[in-house]
Amino acid sequence: MFDLLPEYPDVVNLCNGEPDFSTPSHICEAAIASIQGGDTRYSPTSGILELRQAVADKYTQQLKRRITPDNVMIVCGGTEALMMSLLATVNPGDEVIVTDPCYPNYFAQIELVKAKCVSIPVYEKNNFQIDPEDLKKAISSRTKGIILNYPNNPLGVTASEEYIQSLEQLIDDNNLIVFSDEVYESLTYGKSGHYSLAQNDRIKDNVLVMNSLSKTYAMTGWRIGYIVGHPKIMKSMFRLQESVLSCLPVFIQKAALAALRGSQDKVQEMASAYEKRMNLLVDGIQSMPGFKCIRPMGGLCVMANISAYNKSSEEFSRELLENAGVMTVPGSAFGPMGEGYIRFCFANSFENIQKGVERLSSYIASRQ
Ligand code: PLP
Repeated sequence: MFDLLPEYPDVVNLCNGEPDFSTPSHICEAAIASIQGGDTRYSPTSGILELRQAVADKYTQQLKRRITPDNVMIVCGGTEALMMSLLATVNPGDEVIVTDPCYPNYFAQIELVKAKCVSIPVYEKNNFQIDPEDLKKAISSRTKGIILNYPNNPLGVTASEEYIQSLEQLIDDNNLIVFSDEVYESLTYGKSGHYSLAQNDRIKDNVLVMNSLSKTYAMTGWRIGYIVGHPKIMKSMFRLQESVLSCLPVFIQKAALAALRGSQDKVQEMASAYEKRMNLLVDGIQSMPGFKCIRPMGGLCVMANISAYNKSSEEFSRELLENAGVMTVPGSAFGPMGEGYIRFCFANSFENIQKGVERLSSYIASRQ
């Protein structure tokens, strides 16, 4: 779809999962002051201590137990968080479980560590949650871990404490590492809040929380995130980071420090703006004949079921691009279970989403 974009200059892009907000100014100012103050040299491999302490303080509060800088490594975004977590724990030939559909980078990263990706299907009728029976069937003697992502891209679902409890016994009995991708933690809607998988007492020592400032603080281009986990796993990651990246720029870390320690008002403002945009988009989708979707509880995306149109998701997505001027992502990009769906993203402005919905509605009406 990206390759087709230059051919459609007037398109409404409901494809990119990237915040359209600017990074809050106090964060930018912290980076500028840091550069001007001479922070232009190498830094400690695992991240500057003040930032690791700020992450540790956040999680001490969130998890209600003591987290220290030994539990924390600063990394280059959620993408590096997952890569490092896999590199540190998974051996060639091991199996790693993912849901189908899921964020497609997981497939490539599992392949990069020469492990085997084992998918568990998740169904709309179950709110896209994992059925413990399916998890049981997917576990073998080679299973090293499972990647879980809540709030979820592309599905828009969140995890409740009870839901994670329904999986905890299988995770614990099989000593699975949980790679918990929580990059959308600040974006939950309605009554749903964020439940970090590291809050679960039974599996907490096996959970690696992978988080990023990309979505929460509109900092996608800054490339900064962190991993929180048990010190015995973190220690090997510190060693790995030395050969992978050596260290992250200090001024980027100072900006992240300003984000974590500073006012969280902008985070709230952005989340409530996204919720309004999500409702606008979902109301629009649900009013169109042949479209069905679950109202997202979190994240930036909604999966719309378009199976009534009897077209592949790629064909349908292309049809909407060519005839309605609206860009979406075919569900098949997220795994075979994504077939029959297209993904909309509401990280675009309210006005653009409104325009997108109007275009879609009039095209769908003309098509009937
Ligand atoms: N995990 C999920 C589920 C995502 O959707 C994304 C980005 O879209 C990432 C991780 C990567 O985020 P980052 O920008 O921090 O690398």
